[in-house]
Amino acid sequence: MRLLLLYPEFPDTFWSFRHALKFVRKRASLPPLGLVTVAAMLPESWEKRLVDLNVRPLGRNDLEWADMVFISAMAVQQESAGKVIGQCKAAGLRVVAGGPLFTTGYDRFPEVDHFVLNEAELTLPRFLDDLKNGNPAKTYTSGEFSDITLTPVPAWHLLDMPAYASMAIQFSRGCPYQCDFCNVTALFGHKIRTKTSTQIIAELEGLRSAIKSARKPVPRSLPNSKDSAAGGGGTVSFSWTTISSPTSRT
Ligand code: SF4
Repeated sequence: MRLLLLYPEFPDTFWSFRHALKFVRKRASLPPLGLVTVAAMLPESWEKRLVDLNVRPLGRNDLEWADMVFISAMAVQQESAGKVIGQCKAAGLRVVAGGPLFTTGYDRFPEVDHFVLNEAELTLPRFLDDLKNGNPAKTYTSGEFSDITLTPVPAWHLLDMPAYASMAIQFSRGCPYQCDFCNVTALFGHKIRTKTSTQIIAELEGLRSAIKSARKPVPRSLPNSKDSAAGGGGTVSFSWTTISSPTSRT
C-alpha cells in the first residue's frame, strides 16, 4: 500500500504567519502533528509520503504514486481541504478523512470515502481491520477517549524538517474548562489525560534524531530577492535554534 498523507493549506491570516515566515526562511510554523501520529499507528509495510500543502504544492506525481489518501485538517483549513479532496477523487483515489474538521462536520464532505473520526487510537484499528478484510465502512466514530499512554511516537521522519519554524509535541489531551468558543472539550473531553515522562523523552529523542538526519537545508532566498514570493532559490545557510517559552501555542 502506498499511502499519501495530506495536510491542507492554512488561509492567509495573521496566524498562518505566511509572510513573517519568509524572514526566517521557513515555510510553515508548525508540523502536522496529528498526521505524523496517525502515520505511526499504520502498518510498517505501508509506504508513506506526507505532503503538507503549507510547505509544498501537491504534485501530479504524488497522486499517481498513491494508492490511498489520508487527510487531516482543522476547521480553518476547510477550503483547502475541500479542494484537495476534489483533486484526489479526480485522480481516482480512495480518500480517508479524520481530525477536528471532519469529526465536527463530516457531512460537508460527501466525496470522502471513509471517515475515521474522534481519536484515531480508538477508530483507526477498526478501519484497518475492515480494510484488511475488504469491507471498510463509511464512518468510524467513538464516544470514548483513548489512553494516550499507549500512543506511539510520531513518525517524525516523514516531515521535511528544515521547512518548519518550530516543532511540537503533544503532552496532554482534554481540558477541565468550558470556553464557549473552543472545541477542545468536545473533541477530547474534560478530563486531562497525559503521556508519561518515558513517552515524552522518547518523542524528544526521536525528534532530535529526525532533525539530525534531515540531510540538507531547504534553500531559501532572502525576503527581498526576486523569487522570494515563491520561497525558492538562494543558498542561505540553515541552522536550528531551540527556544523556550513560559507559554505554549497550540
Ligand atoms: S483548551 Fe479550550 S476550553 Fe480549555 S482553557 Fe483553552 S480555550 Fe478554554
